[in-house]
Amino acid sequence: MANEKRRGFALGDIWLGGPELNLIAGPCALESETDLEEVAASLQRLGQRLLRAGVCKPRTSPRSYQGQGLEGLAILSRVAHKYGLYCVSELTDLAHLEAYLEHVDIIQVGARSMQYFPLLRALGRVDKPVLLKRGFGNTVEELLGAADYILEGGNRRLILCERGIRSFETATRATLDLGAVALLKQRCSLPVFVDPSHAAGRADLVEPLALAALAAGADGLLLELHPDPKRALSDPQQQLDLPTFEGLVRRVRRLTDCLRDF
Ligand code: PEP
Ligand code: MN
Repeated sequence: MANEKRRGFALGDIWLGGPELNLIAGPCALESETDLEEVAASLQRLGQRLLRAGVCKPRTSPRSYQGQGLEGLAILSRVAHKYGLYCVSELTDLAHLEAYLEHVDIIQVGARSMQYFPLLRALGRVDKPVLLKRGFGNTVEELLGAADYILEGGNRRLILCERGIRSFETATRATLDLGAVALLKQRCSLPVFVDPSHAAGRADLVEPLALAALAAGADGLLLELHPDPKRALSDPQQQLDLPTFEGLVRRVRRLTDCLRDF
């Protein structure tokens, strides 16, 4: 993998990859425009710029909520842009690429698609940032190999994201691999983000994992956020409510300030 001088890349008027920490936050799935507006307004008030929401959800069971489908993309981008935010959403099917290119500012490749090679190759050829999540059964080497599929196509606007791996431990949804975060920062010059929400699988552990991720060198965080998590149609246990998110943002800022002079 080629090394670049400064870590990260520009997206419109923001820089992804440090030294300022980037937060990507929003609901697991787009459920209603009203809910999304509430989240977007809260992000704007807190000075955050990146709104996430899934519209085609990769669910374990076909009977679980699958998301709003592609019509949701226009809602996501309309709401994001209304509040001065950029939007992030997961692409699960190569056939949907055009719709994502039209509406989404950063295309997310989910853990389950990390080795969907035709998708990775296609994303190497587009002029759109990509956030590539580590598969929960994949090694760091395999993640870097997946990243190369995108980079070799010429797309250098790539973020890697650690989101927890499967281990013998079942007390948390996944095991957050912070060693991988420190290692990835050494091994490549790409921005490295951490998703403590899917790693923890429970809201009360999200903040400690987020703070630990910063100390390990994460350039950004991806956080699930819902105006009323208990009625969320997917991942209700791990989504933060808005006041909890606000507290987390405050403490994340304090830790980032300490780490700057560390
Ligand atoms: C997500 O971020 O919406 C998601 C499904 O995460 P992961 O691919 O890490 O499971
Ligand atoms: Mn989720």
